[in-house]
Amino acid sequence: MNKIHILPPELAEKIAAGEVIERPVSVVKELVENSLDAGATDIRVELLEGGKKLVKVQDNGSGMSREDAALSFRRHSTSKISGEEDLERIATLGFRGEALASIGAVSKFALRTSDGSEERATLLEREGEKLVAVTDIAFPRGTAVEVRDLFFNLPARRKFLRSATSELGLVTKMLTQTALAYPGVRFVLTHGSREVINCPPVESLRDRIFQLFGKAVVDGLMEVAAVEGEGRLHGYASRPLRGRTDRSVQFFFVNNRPVKDRILMAALNQAYMGILERARSAEAFVFLTLPYADVDVNVHPAKAEVRFRDSQLVFRLVLKAIEHATLKERTVKDVYPAAGETWAPDGVAEPVAPGLGFGPEEPNAEARRSQGPAAGVAGQPGKGGPGPEVLGQFQNLYIVAGAEDGLLVIDQHNAHERVLYEKYLEIDRRKLWPRKALLIPEILDLSPSQAVAFEESTVLFEEMGFRAESMGGRSIAIKEYPDVFKAGEAREVFLALLEEAGSDKAQDRRERFLATLACKTAVKAGAPLTAEKMGYLVSELFKTAQPALCPHGRPIVVKVPRAQLDKGLRR
Ligand code: ADP
Ligand code: MG
Repeated sequence: MNKIHILPPELAEKIAAGEVIERPVSVVKELVENSLDAGATDIRVELLEGGKKLVKVQDNGSGMSREDAALSFRRHSTSKISGEEDLERIATLGFRGEALASIGAVSKFALRTSDGSEERATLLEREGEKLVAVTDIAFPRGTAVEVRDLFFNLPARRKFLRSATSELGLVTKMLTQTALAYPGVRFVLTHGSREVINCPPVESLRDRIFQLFGKAVVDGLMEVAAVEGEGRLHGYASRPLRGRTDRSVQFFFVNNRPVKDRILMAALNQAYMGILERARSAEAFVFLTLPYADVDVNVHPAKAEVRFRDSQLVFRLVLKAIEHATLKERTVKDVYPAAGETWAPDGVAEPVAPGLGFGPEEPNAEARRSQGPAAGVAGQPGKGGPGPEVLGQFQNLYIVAGAEDGLLVIDQHNAHERVLYEKYLEIDRRKLWPRKALLIPEILDLSPSQAVAFEESTVLFEEMGFRAESMGGRSIAIKEYPDVFKAGEAREVFLALLEEAGSDKAQDRRERFLATLACKTAVKAGAPLTAEKMGYLVSELFKTAQPALCPHGRPIVVKVPRAQLDKGLRR
């Protein structure tokens, strides 16, 4: 007996609709995209019960003729592409010709539209698959779509809708993102009688961010930009040490299309490593422009995701943009030195401190030069007054130093970590890891997951100066180690790196390796330091790109302003 049969068209239509339309926010998204594609400059969205009862989107765009209006409900009916070659260069938000068909199939639907050329405008009413009426009406140029009782004919779907507030939240977030991409368009969102968003047209992205997020957010942003090949990036992102405790303000756009993209998110994370305090995330409004042929927008029914032909390029653009902007920000100003100040130790940098791991070659200075002219501002020799003067050590934890306008308390471990991290970055960039042989190889018995982690990162270990050989089974012998710590520490450092290697993310593994190495080799909290070591450490610290935070994002320096002391002491 045959078991296969073709589904009746209404059922097939409902199934297809489910791919595009999941909940009210999908309806709003599709309708608003249509309005934008129609060139609207004024888009009003009204919801009742989070959109479950009503979604209405009204625009002042090009509108449709009666014939087009009737056609627009057919699946795969679109005015936006016509041939296969068009798929290579999609400039409109819509192109699949599915939205109206899908929404129409699962709701009670009314479309009012006029393209301004016909005397009478059109009202088209549908209920699920059925066309209920076509009526002449008076209506200005533009389109208004009403979608009532979403999924009225798909009870199983309707059950999965969330509370009105929760659905409203999704719509608000989506419209916020869309509004960011179109500062010149007015967006209004009302929920019942409540106005949730109302942003009139503005000149710039910055103004739009201000409208939506307010002054505090705008003040915490810096402009970012980068170009490579045919790729361009522009936008705004958190200044060093700002950011927030959640990821709710990260918006990405590709060719002005709002997207969710893991590569962009990962790149942003990595770009902010050591620039934000631990457990804080950047705010970001990142616009990427690529040739249409280099990004595939047709990978997701709701067009929420894209695929890049060259994801490495995308990654680099983000890193570059943030890095440049950060260097210009003179990242220390929130802590030390204050804005506008520069200082440098003149000729202090006598290499000292065997056992502190400071080499004579001063790779930091080299690193800054190679990063271009903006990089060295905070520590350019010869400019500014004298540097902080070390006054002493407090409880073998903190270095206390006097600056012109206050007292600095510097965490010795975190400070050294930052100094070493930049040094290691440079050594690694130049592939100059000093290697040393262990007289007696260290034998390690790895756990199964350690063994896997090691296998995965063998190359990285080797590039960083380790030579470890398999002894059969899960045992390995470390025979060489990078000569930046004592031979006796090889085992512990190796294991710490292995733990890093075992953590999930592969993207920024090299940086995390270097950060771990810096942490492991930095002077410990609790270690007494000589005045000479402290002097050197402090002067090196303020030559780094980011003296305020260690590579793991912990603060390094706290300043007690002189003014505060004076006030407290009534001077
Ligand atoms: P797509 O946007 O992928 O083309 P839709 O089903 O969303 O498919 O819309 C079908 C067609 O209906 C569009 O190509 C467009 O020509 C027309 N249309 C839909 N909404 C509007 C609108 N608000 N203003 C003008 N034309 C519209
Ligand atoms: Mg569309």
